[in-house]
Amino acid sequence: MASASKTKIALVGNPNSGKSSLFNQLTGLNQKVGNFPGVTVDKKSGFTTLPDGTVAEIVDLPGIYSIYPRSLDERIVSEILLDHRSAALPDKIVVVADATNLKRSLLLLTQIVDMGLPVMLVLNMMDLVARAGISYDFTALSRRLGVPVVAVNARKGEGIKELKEQLSKPLAVSQRPCFTIWEEAKAPVKELRDTLGVDNDYEAYLFLEQPDSLKFLPADRKNNVDRIRTAHKFHPGKFQGAETIQRYSFIQDLLNDITLRATDHSWKKHSNQLDRILTHKVWGYLIFLGLLLLIFQAIFAWATVPMDFIDAVFADLSQWVGSALPAGPATSLLAEGIIPGLGGIVIFVPQIAILFAFISILEESGYMARVVFLMDKIMRRFGLNGKSVVPLISGVACAIPAIMATRTIDNWKERTITIMITPLISCSARLPIFTIIIALIVPDETALGFFNLQGLALMALYLLGFVMAITSAWIMNLIIRVRERSYLVMEMPTYRIPKWSNVGYTILEKTKAFVFEAGKVIMAISIVLWVLASYGPGDITTRATASVQQESANLRLTEEGLQDRIAARKLEYSYAGIIGKAIEPVIRPLGYDWKIGIALITSFAAREVFVGTMATIYSIGSAGDEDETTIKTRMREEVNPETGEARFTPAVGFSLLIFYTFAMQCMSTIAVVYRETKGWKWPLLQFAYMTALAYVSAFIVYQVLR
Ligand code: GDP
Ligand code: MG
Repeated sequence: MASASKTKIALVGNPNSGKSSLFNQLTGLNQKVGNFPGVTVDKKSGFTTLPDGTVAEIVDLPGIYSIYPRSLDERIVSEILLDHRSAALPDKIVVVADATNLKRSLLLLTQIVDMGLPVMLVLNMMDLVARAGISYDFTALSRRLGVPVVAVNARKGEGIKELKEQLSKPLAVSQRPCFTIWEEAKAPVKELRDTLGVDNDYEAYLFLEQPDSLKFLPADRKNNVDRIRTAHKFHPGKFQGAETIQRYSFIQDLLNDITLRATDHSWKKHSNQLDRILTHKVWGYLIFLGLLLLIFQAIFAWATVPMDFIDAVFADLSQWVGSALPAGPATSLLAEGIIPGLGGIVIFVPQIAILFAFISILEESGYMARVVFLMDKIMRRFGLNGKSVVPLISGVACAIPAIMATRTIDNWKERTITIMITPLISCSARLPIFTIIIALIVPDETALGFFNLQGLALMALYLLGFVMAITSAWIMNLIIRVRERSYLVMEMPTYRIPKWSNVGYTILEKTKAFVFEAGKVIMAISIVLWVLASYGPGDITTRATASVQQESANLRLTEEGLQDRIAARKLEYSYAGIIGKAIEPVIRPLGYDWKIGIALITSFAAREVFVGTMATIYSIGSAGDEDETTIKTRMREEVNPETGEARFTPAVGFSLLIFYTFAMQCMSTIAVVYRETKGWKWPLLQFAYMTALAYVSAFIVYQVLR
């Protein structure tokens, strides 16, 4: 990193204390999201210029309640702070505290003080403190803790100037310990300090307490720690509860001394009143349901305009490139592989942006914490967690951001099950397939006065996906055996008006993650599929042209019609066509022929590719411009040579619908699951069970209806 010589400042604090808001205030747009080495936790870093003209690097660390980690995200922080020799160790630590809830923030602060790290305290949310009528004696607080204290309002940007001034001064390590180590622990701590050269007692004590956070130690030193632990019969976790109690009593004394007056609690009262409705046994669920409907409506109705626009732009671009550049494999790769591949990524941006706009507004306002609380009891029965709600909702737009959103679930089993079932939720990529096939086999009529049959069919497919997801979760809950139990420990933040720039940052961050993370895979697979569909044994262009010309010599086709037929024949001769024919025996029991087989293969990249492939196979490439009505007409006219009847009978149609509802036809999801579970076991298992589910269900549907 270019910042080797720059001061590194880390923001640490409880979740929701305002770290990210402060981070945004300090860095503006001068920030980037990366990854902590070796793990999939986002690392946000950025730069700020201090009053003395130097530039400092700011890192926004994941939220933690104490130095004892409870989840993957939290472990990152304790590892960074424990490894005093690492280059990642910040030069200065800023503990960001929600000043309306100082007690818990101070717990973390006192731990960092005792670790002997240079730390300062930022009291955030000073507006809320003022409104509650509380005020603190900052000078006393700073003196008692031995750390500088600055009060800010990270939302409005008040106090940022003072903070920057403080940050440009040197920061000394506090000389006021907040905690004394127990007699029994003194001997191993001393031995550890002597043998390993650990800087101070509390740090050595944490080495003994947290065997899991010591990955940074070379094996021999780690063995040394383990040896000392065994030799002194030191059981990790033994003193942890007692430590917390001792610290809280220290903090309570401190708070009694520095709190000047606490009178009016009116804002908290309002928040509690609101909770009586929003977490009500009946109203709570109804309101949440209403919100979900609004979100779905937004994802589907509002996103179509920008999506159609993106679709059109990429189609035009591809056509323009195809005709403007000299013909050849490079042009064809660009026009038929790369540009449509890019389009296939960008087209999801509107839905992802809208979805995360909603999610971040709900999170920012404090409502999401209530949803988690409301849903936890229900979800738990299925081996899920209240926090699984967000991924499951997100899955409606796209499984990729949804699976990324499971990171907030601390419990390994619940997180894994959520990841495993999320792709069963019908994502937006299934929509084009659903609409086309439904239009083919379900009459456009109304039932019971105002229910459109096609609309009902679509809704049924969504419900089916959801029910199957919940059922699978329930089964996996029975199969996956772990002793890990989870408790939902959370406190309800008071309601707040969301801060819009934070919403904006979230949208930007998530879309960027999607475009770059998933984009890479989608791009690569698009190219592979382009090769499969454009090349075959021998010169397939010449062969296709010859064969079409021969059979249509007396058909008097237009030039365009001829070209379309050649394209279709080329696809038939290509590797994709060969594979399609090869798998025909396997998919015949589902009612599919090799043409559908080709589409199954190409749509493995992403489901929506199905429609485009159908267009090419049925040779309507140039004539219809992949226009839906043309594809529909052409598919309706397609005849099954064996029966002489229509190819897409209701049996075949429903079989296809069910297949795409359950099948894991998405390379990018597999890639994301690999990345999130750090191995091939879960993505492969997921692929296998979903494909089996899809195959068996489609088989039953076809055999019953035919
Ligand atoms: P993080 O979880 O620590 O990163 O916290 P965020 O920066 O995401 O902030 C959590 C919530 O607190 C957001 O809704 C912020 O808009 C809000 N917030 C942050 N700072 C302040 C502040 O000084 N005053 C008020 N009223 N709200 C704030
Ligand atoms: Mg944050």
